[in-house]
Amino acid sequence: MNAEIVAVGSEMLTPERVDTNSLYLTGELNTLGVEVVGKYVVGDHVNRLADVVRLALSRSSIVILSGGLGPTEDDLTRDAVAAALGRKLIYHAEIAGLLEQRFARLNRKMAEVNKRQAFVIEGAEILANDRGTAPGQWVEESGSVVMLLPGPPHEMKAMFERQCLPRLARLVPKRVIRTLELRVAGMGESDLDQLIAPVYKKYQNPATTILAGAGDIQIHFRAQCDTVAEADALICEVAGPVELLLGDRIYSRNGESIEAVVGKLLLSRQSSLTVAESCTGGLLGERLTSVPGSSEYFLGGFITYSNALKTAVLGVPPEMLAEHGAVSKPVAEAMAAGARRRAGATHALSITGVAGPGGGTEAKPVGTVYIGLADPSGTEVLHRQVLGDRTRIRMFASQLALDFLRRRLSAPPK
Ligand code: ATP
Ligand code: MG
Repeated sequence: MNAEIVAVGSEMLTPERVDTNSLYLTGELNTLGVEVVGKYVVGDHVNRLADVVRLALSRSSIVILSGGLGPTEDDLTRDAVAAALGRKLIYHAEIAGLLEQRFARLNRKMAEVNKRQAFVIEGAEILANDRGTAPGQWVEESGSVVMLLPGPPHEMKAMFERQCLPRLARLVPKRVIRTLELRVAGMGESDLDQLIAPVYKKYQNPATTILAGAGDIQIHFRAQCDTVAEADALICEVAGPVELLLGDRIYSRNGESIEAVVGKLLLSRQSSLTVAESCTGGLLGERLTSVPGSSEYFLGGFITYSNALKTAVLGVPPEMLAEHGAVSKPVAEAMAAGARRRAGATHALSITGVAGPGGGTEAKPVGTVYIGLADPSGTEVLHRQVLGDRTRIRMFASQLALDFLRRRLSAPPK
């Protein structure tokens, strides 16, 4: 079953406001097994709004509008939906009475315009609003339903949860939803898609979504079936070949972050870690310590941004810095080895790079990154060219470092 969502209100078309109601509604609908196939933001204009409602209804059997149910001239949702369905608006004296009582309880007299809220589309069910004045409406039309909900998120959510979900449960066939999330490091989004698209593109169910971050990709599979067994089998059918193609680039299958995966590997080997960071300025340490219990393996680190500190704290020779520059293979190596010695850790990671936007040269353009890894078997350096702005380059560098260590720790002992 498909749904479309319409956010109503000219303020939603300004740079100051964003439609968050549809995110909540999409989450709730997905849980019921309903797919959202279209979302719109429409200003306070009765004809444009009616057009969108007609279009949405021609394609989907659930249409949800939020906003534009208030009492003022620009609250036009009732009029627009009535026009789209070719139905009349009917004045309900009992709604006007309830509104009047509400105002009386606050010792205020109700303004005449509030009566606009007492108009209900012919044949609609009224949805009580215990958090505001605007009642919602539930209108069924030849097997489809249109919901009119208030705009303020706390009113909309309460109404949807209490009044719409129970009604929807009657309308929407019961489906089981199973999901699987694979996380992948060390690959670009387009390379990954090229590799796995031939597998997942053949299937509508499960639906596959790819979310890409800096050096980090999440692949979500979502199957809808009548039974758990069927849904699990469908997920296996698609995820199995995808997992084979991606191999050890997959670092988790349960939503776990790479910093948590690295932490578990360190713990299981009773190893400890320190970091020496230049261009990431502490980001790697921040990520590692975001994992609860990281004190079991993470000793701490060194943010050595200047050359002087690289020498004073990590023992990087000044001649090496002068000859090769701070962003270089030998310096990454010396930083990792120095940090490991200084902290007495089994493992040390170092990061040095050009995060930009300035500071790039022909030989070392913005995005040049060196990652060092020192452990009992020696020191190794990884060199990568990262594309993007400063934030992305720094995030990518920290991701590369974590993945470098993950691979080292998960490799079978030599
Ligand atoms: P009211 O009686 O408050 O006028 P209403 O149903 O007419 O209710 P709107 O006037 O459209 O609702 O919106 C009221 C406020 O609710 C907006 O100013 C905005 O802050 C918030 N709002 C409306 N629509 C959305 C949306 N789609 N996402 C997030 N917030 C919204
Ligand atoms: Mg309003």
